[in-house]
Amino acid sequence: MIDRWPEVGIARLIAQRHGFVPGESLLDLVRIYADVDFLHIPVQQVDGVSLHLKAKGRRPSIIVNSQIADTRAKFTLAHEFGHVLIPWHSGTIFSYSDSEKKTEGADNAYWEMEAEANRFAAELLMPREWLRAQVLEHQDPAHVLRVVLNLCGTSMAAAIIALNNALPPGYVYARTDDEGLVSNSMSSHGTYVKPFALGEKFAGSTRARESSACYNLNFKGTHHWLQYDSEKVPETVVDERPWRTIFDEIISDTNAVALQANIKHSINAIISTCNTKDISAQAFFTAVRQRMAGRDEVYDLILAHPLFNVFLQKKVAEFISRRT
Ligand SMILES: [Zn+2]
Repeated sequence: MIDRWPEVGIARLIAQRHGFVPGESLLDLVRIYADVDFLHIPVQQVDGVSLHLKAKGRRPSIIVNSQIADTRAKFTLAHEFGHVLIPWHSGTIFSYSDSEKKTEGADNAYWEMEAEANRFAAELLMPREWLRAQVLEHQDPAHVLRVVLNLCGTSMAAAIIALNNALPPGYVYARTDDEGLVSNSMSSHGTYVKPFALGEKFAGSTRARESSACYNLNFKGTHHWLQYDSEKVPETVVDERPWRTIFDEIISDTNAVALQANIKHSINAIISTCNTKDISAQAFFTAVRQRMAGRDEVYDLILAHPLFNVFLQKKVAEFISRRT
C-alpha cells in the first residue's frame, strides 16, 4: 500500500526486511542498526536522544530515558529508531515528550522531524495493515484494542489513535469519565457521524441511539465504539401525504425554526449532499440520518420525530425516481 508519508514506507520496508511483527523484540531489531542505552537523562521532558546520525564512519547511538514508563520507553525507542533510519535526519536530535514545547520555539523543521519519527514509530509498532486484519478478524474494536495493548506494548492513547486510523468508515469512538461525560472522541475516516464534543453526555445521546452496535471496554477509563451500518432498511411507509406536508408538520411540532431559522434549507442541503451517484435508497436514507445525528440539538429533535423516517423515505424515493 502506498502512503503519502515516506517515513511510514520506511517503517514498512524495515519490518518486511526483518520479518518484524507486533510481539517481536523491538530492542533486538534496533540493535542491528544502532547502539542502545537506557540511562537517566537529567534534562526535563527529554524522553530520548539520537547521536551520530548519518555521521561518516560512526555507528548511531540511541539513549532512552530510563525514568519513563515502559509504554513510553518503547514508543521512544521506536521514535529514535526512526531518526536513525530516516535519511534526512542527521546529527544529534533530542526528543521531547511535551508537545507544549512546540509553541515555545518556532523551529518548524525540528517539529516536522519529530512528527516524522512519531509516524515511523506508530507504523512500526502498530502496522496499519496488521491492524486492519485484526479488525476484520475480530470485528469488535474493544477486542482489537486489547490485542494491540498486549502485543504492541504501546500506550492507550497511541493505540486508540492507530486503531481509529485502521477502522473502516462507520465508527465513532468515545471515552467517558466517571460521570458518563465524553473526555475524548474521534470518528474513523469516511464516517458521516461527527465525534462527540468534550463534556457531552454519552448515554442516551442521539449518536448512541442511531448506532447499530456498541462495543465497550473498561480499562483505564471507559471506552465505547459506536458502529453505524452503511445500509439500514427503513420500515415501510403508510402515509399518503406528500413529503412537504409531513416535513412542515415535523418542523412545526419541534418548533425547529425558532431554534434555527434556516433549518428547512439546511436539511434539504444535507439530503442533496447525500444523493451521490448510484447510491442505493437504503444507503442514502442511512447517510442522511447519520449526517444529522449529533450535529445540533435541533437536528436531534427532528430525527427523533416519529414522522421523520416517513418524510425521509418519500424524499429519497423522489430523488431516486428523478435519476432515470
Ligand atoms: Zn525525536
